[in-house]
Amino acid sequence: MPYYNETKLAKELISFPSITPTDAGTMNYLSKKLKSLGFKCKILEFKTKDLKPVKNLYAKLGKSRPNFCYAGHTDVVPPGNLNEWTVNPFKPAIKKNHLIGRGANDMKASIACFISAVSKFKKKFNGSISLLITGDEEGIAINGTKKVVEYLKKKKEKIDFCLVGEPTNPNKLGQMMKIGRRGSITGYLKVYGTQGHVAYPLQAKNPAPIITKILNQIQNIKLDNGTKNFQPSNLEIVKININNTADNVIPAEATATFNVRFNNKHSSNSLKKKFNNILKKICKKNKCTFGVSYIVSGEAFITTPNKTTKMIQNTIKKITKIKPKLSTSGGTSDARFIRKISPCVEFGLVGKTMHKVDETVLLSDLKKLTTIYYEILENYFK
Ligand SMILES: [Zn+2]
Repeated sequence: MPYYNETKLAKELISFPSITPTDAGTMNYLSKKLKSLGFKCKILEFKTKDLKPVKNLYAKLGKSRPNFCYAGHTDVVPPGNLNEWTVNPFKPAIKKNHLIGRGANDMKASIACFISAVSKFKKKFNGSISLLITGDEEGIAINGTKKVVEYLKKKKEKIDFCLVGEPTNPNKLGQMMKIGRRGSITGYLKVYGTQGHVAYPLQAKNPAPIITKILNQIQNIKLDNGTKNFQPSNLEIVKININNTADNVIPAEATATFNVRFNNKHSSNSLKKKFNNILKKICKKNKCTFGVSYIVSGEAFITTPNKTTKMIQNTIKKITKIKPKLSTSGGTSDARFIRKISPCVEFGLVGKTMHKVDETVLLSDLKKLTTIYYEILENYFK
């Protein structure tokens, strides 16, 4: 069986311009590499009306349990302003011990490290190793991991533990593992008044002061003080709009958008109820109507640290000399889908430059992460 070097794999993977949801050949490339290591590979293409099809990959080595799964994504965010990059984002280059290119830490290089680790892991073991790779994590994620999880459920495929390779470290490799994530809900609010002449307010109903009242009240809800594992829930108003082209007209409607990142003291439903009560009350009192809709990106969740979590934490500490913090901070990740079928933790590279120009990773971190992934396999299948 071949041995794969992590830096070479990372460079090859980065050179596919796989901006969400374009596959650009990444799934075929990964299948080829994994087949050469004995994996059975299944490329899963999902499509929905109005959306471009998305390619995903489920690859598995061995048949028996326990099944240890690595999850990640090959899609990347657009490079942004090409003139600001010092290299072509899809022609990765090495400068001063850093690999630079789009996906260097989020998260093609992490996938490269895991495949390199598997190629070194040549011993006989009881169980199986699998990879769940999606091409739509950075986008709306409708035909990505969510659909793969539904497919695995239907096929009665079991995963016993999942390691998600997202960049979890803020500044230094070893600082942070994620054992859960906050939930995210966005509310789209509309308040309807009655249009009229500003000089005749009694014959109109201005929605502007009403929407500001509502926003003021939801902004001031004390959601919670945080928990042992989570920071306090937080609401941000992100848009307030009144589409009015005249200065002498009371507008007919006002709209606003707000987002809440919430911990496991709340669910999207409990939050919706809270907000809807405030909307109803204020609008009733002010004799106006409203409309509201919500998009839920994910509920808050946590994988209560078990012996595998502790083993991974100790392995990271052994290699990096840093004891990683078990955190639930940051945005959402595909662990929100996978946790429905398996306990999950996340550990990957340093994310300081993710989504930025000149996305970069230390070559020595690639080596260390490969060793960490290798030792995690060793310990898991001991
Ligand atoms: Zn990512």
